[in-house]
Amino acid sequence: MYTDKNLTCADCGQEFVFTASEQDFYAQRNFTEPRRCASCRASRKAARNASDGGGGGSYSAEGGSSSYGGYGAGGSYSAGGYSGARDRGPREMFTATCSNCGRDAQVPFRPTSGKPVYCSDCFRTMRGA
Ligand SMILES: [Zn+2]
Ligand SMILES: [Zn+2]
Repeated sequence: MYTDKNLTCADCGQEFVFTASEQDFYAQRNFTEPRRCASCRASRKAARNASDGGGGGSYSAEGGSSSYGGYGAGGSYSAGGYSGARDRGPREMFTATCSNCGRDAQVPFRPTSGKPVYCSDCFRTMRGA
């Protein structure tokens, strides 16, 4: 009853085959004829899935006026337990030794051994470089 049919993809303009069995399948479900070839349909589906997920939720200090001039921005300076600090009122500061210049550094998180800690001067210098 159905015969294979060539349709033109609305996206890429290529002809693709709307097979007899597909036509049967579509007719049973009252679908309209496909307007796109299989690969364009697949890529649109993938794009839709990609935009649904994610959200990122990345914490950005950019614009979130921090009294600590630039700490936390850029993401390279990841600090454990730092998120939510803004809800805790005055920020707790920890004293550590700057890995670069050896001076005392005040950092807004508990310094973990093995991770370099920089004073605000060195941190700014490194970011500005
Ligand atoms: Zn196409
Ligand atoms: Zn330093």
